Amino acid sequence: MVKCFLPGEFLATEEEFSKGENTFEENGSIFSDSLGKPCEDNKLKVISIVKPRILAQLAIGSVIFGIVMLVRTNSVSIELSSLKTSSERQVIGSSFAMLPVRNVSREYVEDLKQEFKIGDFVKARVAEAKPWGIDLRTNEADLGVIKAFCSKCRHSLQLSGAGLKCTNCGNSETRKLSAEYESSFAFPEEKKVQL
Ligand SMILES: [Zn+2]
Repeated sequence: MVKCFLPGEFLATEEEFSKGENTFEENGSIFSDSLGKPCEDNKLKVISIVKPRILAQLAIGSVIFGIVMLVRTNSVSIELSSLKTSSERQVIGSSFAMLPVRNVSREYVEDLKQEFKIGDFVKARVAEAKPWGIDLRTNEADLGVIKAFCSKCRHSLQLSGAGLKCTNCGNSETRKLSAEYESSFAFPEEKKVQL
């Protein structure tokens, strides 16, 4: 089985290959910018990362981690990233899933924009897997935002009472927090989330 690469992992030097899809170059080295398997084109000397498409295998109830890409009035778009612990390194595909407002919390959600913001790291469970996509849910105590950044200065936010506070600029924010919220949580895709 071909090893799966995490975002930011070294793939090759620039002498060996040119960068292809889903890779980036830094200081003469080529790195993966997505979860996936490497694909070497030895004729063109290009190395790329192929993102897996195995969403259909996601069982209902599976725990996923993802990043908030968009917050609408009645749903949140989440890019799925990795499964469970980093030691497992199991890939579930780099694809989008939806979190409908009705699945967010057991409590009434008045404004989704107070619960999620772009760039938040989220722990969720698969509520429904349909051929055209996945619905997620965060309506349990351990589910929800596990790491968030200040919307004013992008500093990581610290728990403060029932909400979050930025130690850099003093800004207070709210989220649908997971009981596992950790301001030091290291997410493999953090690199991509610097807005
Ligand atoms: Zn701030």
